Amino acid sequence: MPAAASRFPTAAGPDGHWRLPGLPNLHSHAFQRAMAGLAERLSDPNDSFWTWRELMYRFAGRVDPDSQYAIATQLYAEMLEAGYTSVCEFHYLHHAPDGQPYADPAAMSRALIAAAQDTGIRLTLLPVLYMSGGFDGRPLGERQRRFGHSLEAYLALLQSLRALASPMLQVGVAFHSLRAVPAPALAAVLEAIGDASMPIHLHIAEQVGEVQDCLALRGARPVEWLLANAPVDARWTLVHATHLEPGEVQGIARSGATVAICPTTEANLGDGLFPLRDYLQAGGHWGIGSDSHVSVSPVEELRWLEYGQRLVTRRRNIAVGPDQPSTGTLLYTQALAGGLRACGLADAAQDWLLLDGDAPVLAAARADDLLDRVVFAGNRGLVRETHVAGRRVVAEGRHVDAGPIAARYARVLRTWLAS
Ligand code: ZN
Repeated sequence: MPAAASRFPTAAGPDGHWRLPGLPNLHSHAFQRAMAGLAERLSDPNDSFWTWRELMYRFAGRVDPDSQYAIATQLYAEMLEAGYTSVCEFHYLHHAPDGQPYADPAAMSRALIAAAQDTGIRLTLLPVLYMSGGFDGRPLGERQRRFGHSLEAYLALLQSLRALASPMLQVGVAFHSLRAVPAPALAAVLEAIGDASMPIHLHIAEQVGEVQDCLALRGARPVEWLLANAPVDARWTLVHATHLEPGEVQGIARSGATVAICPTTEANLGDGLFPLRDYLQAGGHWGIGSDSHVSVSPVEELRWLEYGQRLVTRRRNIAVGPDQPSTGTLLYTQALAGGLRACGLADAAQDWLLLDGDAPVLAAARADDLLDRVVFAGNRGLVRETHVAGRRVVAEGRHVDAGPIAARYARVLRTWLAS
């Protein structure tokens, strides 16, 4: 049982409500919230991740620092209402749409930092290094130019952001993917950060095509290559890691890295299914992310993580262990423990939720069935209050600034979708 479990309630409070640790969200591209629900019409008989990516690039081309702030405040307010209390922002939308850096090269990062500050969510900002358009080292395409950096410019951005770090703002590094970061650049960034205990995240093995390209050009599968060529340890978070051979499952678990599983996005994009049972048996660390934000609900992520496994194995209660027969408890406690590692947070004792003890789904709840009820029969409506670092940011189920935040967000969407 993770140490974090010691903070789980043994009974409802005197007011009848249950106090629960908030969950970290390990993977977010904030701007993608604005296109949630707008990619669900057939555009090509072979619609896939790659056709979705074209639409995403068109949306990305509209975002500037002001709209980034408007979207991110709406997203973070929704996260807090849903029970997330910290978020890892995997941020690659660095420059103006034509690829030119803004006058302040950190303008887009600062918009995210301001959104986190103003809504009250804990932020782990992960500026992303994105250098090439494929494993063959081809240059970035026209719509990818605003993502790109030279190594020097990236390290300068990282340094300027690290100077802003605080208890509410962790700063780590991110490599977009092995296909977007040539091996020498990956090694150079790792050398530059040395032993610093900062989070290191990357997308890996999300798509079969990526695995095939990596095999063809680097002679190894992505995770296999990474484990053999980088000092993967507890600082690392591997995002998705969907397509794994058994040796890779064991290798990630042995390394101490965390996997950020994003079940609703992986389902929405048709990515594939993470081998959860094997990974749990290997003792691997993991957490959840809402990634493209088609769903902003830790309950839905955890539920679909388990349900995906049930559907393919035709069995029930997959995420259980020898010491933990409750699926909801195992999912919630491990997502919390792995999430704190991936965010670079030692503890989240100050980040908690008050669940509505008056909700019928929690009637006569006990400590040993609370999390099964929450994960399998609850939803965001159960979160009555959210507290982060001593600040109450959600009251009566709504973010304290929900009205003006939603109005600003709606103005951005109306403008974009009218033109
Ligand atoms: Zn992602």
